[in-house]
Amino acid sequence: MTKTTKKIIEVAIPENDTPKRAIGVLTSGGDSPGMNAAVRAVIRTALDEDVEVYIIREGYQGMVDGGTRIQKATWESGGGILQRGGTVIGTARCMDFQQRAGRLAAARNLVTRGITNLVVIGGDGSLTGANLFRQEWPSLLAELVEKGDITQSVAQAYDSFNIVGLVGSIDNDMFGTDMTIGADTALHRIVEAIDAITSTAASHQRAFVVEVMGRHCGYLALMAGLATGASWVLIPESPPNVENWEDKMCDVLRMGREAGRRTNMVIVAEGAQDRNGQPISANYVRQILEERLHSDTRVTILGHVQRGGSPTAFDRNLGTILGHAAVQHILSSEASAESMLIGMRGNKVTQLPLMECVQQTKDVANVIKANEYDKAMDLRGGSFKEAFRTLRTLVRAFPHKPDPGHAPKRFAVMNAGGPAAGMNTAVRTAVRLGIDKGHTILGVKNGFEGLIKGEIVEMNWMSVHGMVSLGGAELGTRRKIPKGGELYAIARNIEEFKIDGLIIIGGWAGYEAAYTMYKERENYPAFDIPVICVPASINNNLPGSELSIGADTALNNIVEAVDKIKQSAVASRRCFVVEVMGGYCGYLALMSGMATGAERVYSHEQGVTLKNLQSDINDLVDGFKQGKRLALMIRNEKANSFYTTSFMTALFEEESGGLFDVRQAILGHLQQGGNPSPFDRIQATQLSVKAVQFLIDEVETRPARSVFMGLQGGKVNFFDFDRFQSMIDKNFSRPKEQWWIQLQSVAAVMTQSEPHSLAKR
Ligand code: ADP
Repeated sequence: MTKTTKKIIEVAIPENDTPKRAIGVLTSGGDSPGMNAAVRAVIRTALDEDVEVYIIREGYQGMVDGGTRIQKATWESGGGILQRGGTVIGTARCMDFQQRAGRLAAARNLVTRGITNLVVIGGDGSLTGANLFRQEWPSLLAELVEKGDITQSVAQAYDSFNIVGLVGSIDNDMFGTDMTIGADTALHRIVEAIDAITSTAASHQRAFVVEVMGRHCGYLALMAGLATGASWVLIPESPPNVENWEDKMCDVLRMGREAGRRTNMVIVAEGAQDRNGQPISANYVRQILEERLHSDTRVTILGHVQRGGSPTAFDRNLGTILGHAAVQHILSSEASAESMLIGMRGNKVTQLPLMECVQQTKDVANVIKANEYDKAMDLRGGSFKEAFRTLRTLVRAFPHKPDPGHAPKRFAVMNAGGPAAGMNTAVRTAVRLGIDKGHTILGVKNGFEGLIKGEIVEMNWMSVHGMVSLGGAELGTRRKIPKGGELYAIARNIEEFKIDGLIIIGGWAGYEAAYTMYKERENYPAFDIPVICVPASINNNLPGSELSIGADTALNNIVEAVDKIKQSAVASRRCFVVEVMGGYCGYLALMSGMATGAERVYSHEQGVTLKNLQSDINDLVDGFKQGKRLALMIRNEKANSFYTTSFMTALFEEESGGLFDVRQAILGHLQQGGNPSPFDRIQATQLSVKAVQFLIDEVETRPARSVFMGLQGGKVNFFDFDRFQSMIDKNFSRPKEQWWIQLQSVAAVMTQSEPHSLAKR
């Protein structure tokens, strides 16, 4: 190869000696759904802050190759990608970047564009590479100076380099974040597939062995098992704890059949192994089932289906929130001290030293390799361990035998309020857990109407079979809040059916009813029993709970519908005003707006004024004049009682000047329907376990505790009902504090038609 004459690349250094520090964004390693949302958020947040941002295509390969693979992003670069699976900017596994020569070329390509901040969206391999690059940055620049590629003053001007890592991985295998971008979508794909397989398996009474991804991490297998009511689950972190585990598995499956189960579903994580570290393959499990149970057994290896498809609402919003936070971190004074990993704990964005997270992640793989399984489970953390414990109870064909001397109690379980997907899952768990602990579980039909009328039946282990994945509320639910003589009827039924404790799985009406019972204890001593409300409402408007059961399913229902509506609108230059549920709570409106890229979200919390509407019309007209082909406005059903959905539609249409059509879409009850999402099933299961335990713990306490529960910051909390009034905004049936309000500003940045920085100029 002929050597070309070297030429020092001209790099602009601004006169004031503070060079413009551009941001580069890339996706690397395995792709995962939701990466596009993160890329979009990085681009738009940066541009909104008037910072240059570059898209680096094909992962580290683009950084090494430079040229057209590193492109300056515009506002439009982030358009139309939110709902797409995979990563539209490409990803790769790059050998060149593993070599110093490759990293030197990459450093040259970045510094010559003034890029000294990098947001890397990938797995632990990609993030390790990123950190190495950051550590080497000063020496890479020195080498470039030495080679005459850049001048000393350029090297000095760009001497510090920031790395922010976001974890894009379907495995959910990384420390430093509760969820990785893509894991929720992968779980959706797995659960959809297993639900589908279950229906055919049940028809033929077949056994199925399903292999899911996860070489070192059993998250997908375990959660899919919880969410689908699997018969047996094999994960890398916790192999069966007996040598002859095959016999034990076959016993459980055989007993399941005898108890009336029509399917046997075994879920095997890719990296499953036995206590001695020998891999357990799906085919091996099939062979065992065929030989020992003489069962017609099929294997399904889900493979890349798990990676694909449109991201869920959760992954779109997670990507958006983390991408936004990554840029905020870069612009903050804390940046550059260390490579950081931005993740989520509960609903809070967290920042942790990247390499600590990578190291802890690698530790789990190492202890699994060393067959130290208890350590592996400890490293995964409390909720993972608890989920596995719960799974092992729920898969049983029969409950455990009660301890001698155990005093059985009678607990009742019921639904209340509007239907929410996941109510059945919660009932199933309460029934099985309660029976397993040796208690009688009664099911109250049709909410408080049933409690008044005495529609109460004893539940058994198999009466909840198949309920894990069913939408709606099999027990029935009503919005009834009892009063007057009805309270007397309830008290009588509590006495007659000898109810020692009550679980109410439901929404606002259930909470109001429980509060009424609590206040009326003086008049009705029968109400002095432990009562616990489990939050289940699509509106997500319950105090003490960041996310109620059913809200995730409703959100995904909305997002799927809006994706379709948007597609239809593109064809004809149209603006849609979409009305979503939520009562006076704007959670569904805001989160669906953020997940679908809506131009505006109207909520009661933010209010709607004529001035807002006028400015929105101006923006719409400007946008369509500049070539916009579709616009989406999402309106909460109670955003404003005067400016209704049809009023807004008519107003926009009249003011459009014929530039675009306006249509309304009221989504209605499709939001309450459908089978529960994996997240709702898992949350329903986990909350229900705690609710049963609460009744068991509190059954003898007098005066008895009456509480509502919920997840907050990743922990389950219980609140006594005497705090209820102080925590709610009674006029609008919503909590006084709503954590998600802070996301309004993030959504606003993403959906404006041009960055603030441009508008300000
Ligand atoms: P993931 O990020 O999904 O874990 P990989 O482990 O395949 O995927 O890593 C993706 C890319 O990151 C690799 O192809 C390589 O370019 C880069 N990379 C990974 N580990 C290192 C390392 N130790 N040093 C430099 N680059 C690395």
